[in-house]
Amino acid sequence: MSDEDFSDNESAISIRDGTTYLGFVDVPISEEEKPTIEDTFIGGEPLWLDSRSPPQEDLLLCKSCTSPMALLLQSYANLEATYYDRVLYVFACKKPGCRRQNGSVRALRAVRKDPKAMASWQEQVEKKAPVEATRFDISKEIFGSSSNPFTSDTPNPFSSSANPFAQPEPKQESISEPKTETKETQSTAKSDTPAKTYASVASSGVKPKPKPKPLSVKLPSHPGYILYMDAESLKRKPVEAPIGQIDESALDTEVEASNAQLNPLAKQMADMLDDSQFQKFSSKVAHNPHQVLRYDLGGKPLLYSSGDSVSKLFLDKKGRWRDEFLLARPGFNPSGQRRFELQLMPKAIIDLESDLENIDEGMEWGTIVVCTDVEDTMPELDENHVGYVEEYCGVQWEEEVKGGEQ
Ligand SMILES: [Zn+2]
Repeated sequence: MSDEDFSDNESAISIRDGTTYLGFVDVPISEEEKPTIEDTFIGGEPLWLDSRSPPQEDLLLCKSCTSPMALLLQSYANLEATYYDRVLYVFACKKPGCRRQNGSVRALRAVRKDPKAMASWQEQVEKKAPVEATRFDISKEIFGSSSNPFTSDTPNPFSSSANPFAQPEPKQESISEPKTETKETQSTAKSDTPAKTYASVASSGVKPKPKPKPLSVKLPSHPGYILYMDAESLKRKPVEAPIGQIDESALDTEVEASNAQLNPLAKQMADMLDDSQFQKFSSKVAHNPHQVLRYDLGGKPLLYSSGDSVSKLFLDKKGRWRDEFLLARPGFNPSGQRRFELQLMPKAIIDLESDLENIDEGMEWGTIVVCTDVEDTMPELDENHVGYVEEYCGVQWEEEVKGGEQ
């Protein structure tokens, strides 16, 4: 591992300062360009942390029509100072009739906590210094070739091969966090005199883990694209969208009303332009119009509107940010809390619907906000050490366009 892999110290520092990371389309998924578990991608087929361990089927069904849902996003999102793999998934029902219906878009969080792999990962980190540099090496050793052939020179904070420390460190977590894992390993560790490693814990006879069931449903899918991640920069002047690429999207409607006559959609959005959150949304997106994903663990979502039930979780009646968001506590961790983690941006719709023939059947969301358990609790792992839970997923729907515009 050469030094230059870690030469980007500025980025490492700013990451801890609450930098927002943006995801941009890198390459379409194809026979030649297949994503790995350590990639972040939109569309395509989901990859599971262990191919033998898909989620329970009911987590993949639309709550409105019970049809299998299609993958919108899969994001490799390890937490800093942890030694296990973590992936977030967003699925959505493709049926036009399920638009704007509760439960037609769902977010899952998966972890794989293989005690042996974790022990070896942690041991090697502790053996070598500096910690951060070694963790980089080790993740590669454990997870094999983790280099992402699709990324450009841009460091990918989501790939452990590029920068495993990309996510801002939550206050609640410390470097010792990996020592308290699932309840099982925790209690086993306690009963052993100074229990050392996950390997010893693993071999000390915990109760058999549930067997995962193979999926019996086939999930529909959208065209897929592997993303690369980059720190958000607002220094650049907002750029004009390249013609034909994003000019159909709401995000191309600049806040400045002076541009409105150039873009028919801007007229339809006139109501929204009065919305201060939508103004902020538009002006921020204008700096990086191709963003399909925003990642800001513990930060604030960029709200598409201030007038819906999702915005009320984050804003008070006067439209100010709440000190504490009104996010429901996780059912799997009733004393826990959730924090904002990522959101999908409307440019993703254009990519995901690149093969859609009838635009009337298209998606109609403005943003999809995912909030996750601060403690990253996973109540149960299967025999492959993989577990899934459903996390908060809030959809801000696009303003319904009234009347027919020819
Ligand atoms: Zn449905």
